[in-house]
Amino acid sequence: MEKSEAKTTSAIFDKSETLRAALIDLGKSLGATELGFSDIECLPDEKRMGCSRGITVIIRISDGILNQIENEPTQTYFSHYRSVNRLIDNITLRLVLFLEEQGYPSIAIPASQSVSDPKDKFTGAFQHKTGAVLAGQGWIGRSALFIHHTHGPRIRLGTVLTNAPLSTGLPTTESSCGSCRVCVKACPAMAIEGCLWEPGMPRNKLYDAYSCSTHMKVDYQHIGRGAVCGLCVVACPVGKK
Ligand code: SF4
Ligand code: SF4
Repeated sequence: MEKSEAKTTSAIFDKSETLRAALIDLGKSLGATELGFSDIECLPDEKRMGCSRGITVIIRISDGILNQIENEPTQTYFSHYRSVNRLIDNITLRLVLFLEEQGYPSIAIPASQSVSDPKDKFTGAFQHKTGAVLAGQGWIGRSALFIHHTHGPRIRLGTVLTNAPLSTGLPTTESSCGSCRVCVKACPAMAIEGCLWEPGMPRNKLYDAYSCSTHMKVDYQHIGRGAVCGLCVVACPVGKK
């Protein structure tokens, strides 16, 4: 490598690392538990909205609130779930504004998304867990939930899509569920098939989103209008205290 070329490469690396450190500082100062950085160029262009990098914002859900859940979700869990989503949306908005001040137009994907996709009404504009897996922050459990290495499924996720030059983590390539099947047994809707996740596996091989959604709507209509359950989150031993 020529001397001038090496100098340019090193300047790009420094800028990438400085920007990444500034984003982590900002995110954490606003309440994020962890930020992850992924190279999303392996995804179809329309899914990544023309962006090359994903920034995953993770917030831990309160153990105190999760520990109250026994046979069904609680009103407190429903309120907390929405508060965490609001906090994630505030953080991803602030990250976008910061990136745009640096000259990188960016997109915040809401923590809880509703899009009208005729092929899959249970999907979002961008799958947060795909970004988190590509960032190497955890794996997809038998429950189809994202399982963080430390906090398990006891988290909520948000994403910023950008073209800012950011160094990225190493994608997770295998499940760490091992022989555990606790969530399969815990699901009252029998929606979890019990398969071990592999990269690229379609969601419906892991769980039946329709059965899960119908169970919540019918059985938990009196709690948060049937929008939450949480039993597979609480049952998972990863991150449980
Ligand atoms: S959220 Fe509830 S119904 Fe849905 S998969 Fe988890 S345990 Fe089953
Ligand atoms: S309960 Fe067990 S099988 Fe289910 S996601 Fe957690 S570790 Fe994996």
